[in-house]
Amino acid sequence: MTPQIRPYILAETNWKHLKDAHIELAILPWGATEAHNYHLPYGTDNFESQYIVAEAARVAYNQGANLIVLPTIPFGVNTGQSDIYLDINMNPSTQMAILGDIIEVLNRQGIHKFLILNSHGGNDFKTLLRELGLKYPNMFLCTSNWFQAMDKEAYFDNKGDHADEMETSLLMHLKPELILPKEEWGDGAEKKHKVKAFSESWLWSERPWSSVTKDTGIGNPKKASTEKGAQFFKDVTEKIGNVFVEICAMDKEDMYH
Ligand SMILES: [Zn+2]
Repeated sequence: MTPQIRPYILAETNWKHLKDAHIELAILPWGATEAHNYHLPYGTDNFESQYIVAEAARVAYNQGANLIVLPTIPFGVNTGQSDIYLDINMNPSTQMAILGDIIEVLNRQGIHKFLILNSHGGNDFKTLLRELGLKYPNMFLCTSNWFQAMDKEAYFDNKGDHADEMETSLLMHLKPELILPKEEWGDGAEKKHKVKAFSESWLWSERPWSSVTKDTGIGNPKKASTEKGAQFFKDVTEKIGNVFVEICAMDKEDMYH
């Protein structure tokens, strides 16, 4: 194996390495293709999930975890952004079909632990995994939103949930060559619903994105920095990598005490 080949990344490894392998955990990174304020690339969520999953998997692999990272699914649920040019929507029913096909392969081949590393707020895999869990009782299915793994306030000054200070900082660390200069950044101002309770977590309705934000961002990115992005990336990948190790090691027939 040449040092450039990361054996825990399926797209990079080979049949020679895998033909007699016994993988414990398969991880599926899932992103979206959508506008991220004026200044971040449409592939922001995909870059984030690819880099985060690869580094977390490296952390876990170095501790002996037996895991494989599947290729990133690049389209997410963008039903609320139908009028935003080239935001590519993938319906939840399509996601269900994709997950069903992938889990069917894993189940047949005896890889019985599966984790989705989700990068996009519009993706919601819980209900899909509930239904698939009933269909595949031997599979341990789980999903993680990496963007909820850390206390964001400990890293960033301004709150937000789309193309915000966190995402801008991460991209400054991971893909600085793809970010527009700072004078092009929108302020990510968010309009609130006139019915106040929609700002609380117990009442929900999909937000028509272009009624809520002018620049497609939610959260002011102006205090973003490469240093903040690097620190957050290091900490979040370490945390996720350690969870990969724990999931690999756990006995799925005996998970509770
Ligand atoms: Zn994003």
